[in-house]
Amino acid sequence: MKTIGILGGMSAASTQIYYRELCRLTREQLGGLHSPQLLIRSLDFDQIESLQASGDWESAGAILNDEAMRLQRGGAELLVLATNTMHKLAREMMQGVTIPFIHIGDATARRIKEINLKAPGLMATAFTMEQSFYVDRLVAAGLKPIIPVKNDRAAIHRIIYEELCRDITTPASEAAYIAMAKRLINAGADSIILGCTEVGMLLNSNNVDVPVFDTTLIHCSVALDEALGAAH
Ligand code: GLU
Repeated sequence: MKTIGILGGMSAASTQIYYRELCRLTREQLGGLHSPQLLIRSLDFDQIESLQASGDWESAGAILNDEAMRLQRGGAELLVLATNTMHKLAREMMQGVTIPFIHIGDATARRIKEINLKAPGLMATAFTMEQSFYVDRLVAAGLKPIIPVKNDRAAIHRIIYEELCRDITTPASEAAYIAMAKRLINAGADSIILGCTEVGMLLNSNNVDVPVFDTTLIHCSVALDEALGAAH
């Protein structure tokens, strides 16, 4: 089994889900006392969020690159960046890094295409929904993503930063997310991408009427497949 390097803490709330899910999947697949070989680097999200808010992506990219190098030096054999938003800086992060990188958007697009769906609604941070780095990647994979209307984008984003990233879930926000998912379905979405690693704290296949693609869970599954590889 290869060692998976997780660059996380963005936020810590979802990095905990990565750890739990990777342990669960490994137990499910290998049985017995098996658990995944992991190196988890959990950053202080306050620093990263300040760089996002001020638009200092260059400094954020330098931090990610430095941390990815450290994970590689520490023995990671593949890398997972445990946030959709920071995939904006995937290229910068991987500069000079030679171990494989599992791109969360590509992994998700593949899963959607596997079951022949085409028009996923995207619920994510404003960065992910409004900039091109993620949406273009879905389009390049042959999908036609549907983006929430302006007010919904603002509400999704606010709940991510003010609640989910602080490990807060409320019935009111769950209801709001369900309503926003419904509006995407009414606008033609045949599925919903939980395109932020914390959105699964509120939405799942039990409260959404179309197939749900939780990027966190998909990312874990693809990373573990890669880690088990031929040796499995
Ligand atoms: N975890 C989130 C994501 O998947 C948002 C936090 C961040 O900006 O990294 O996009």
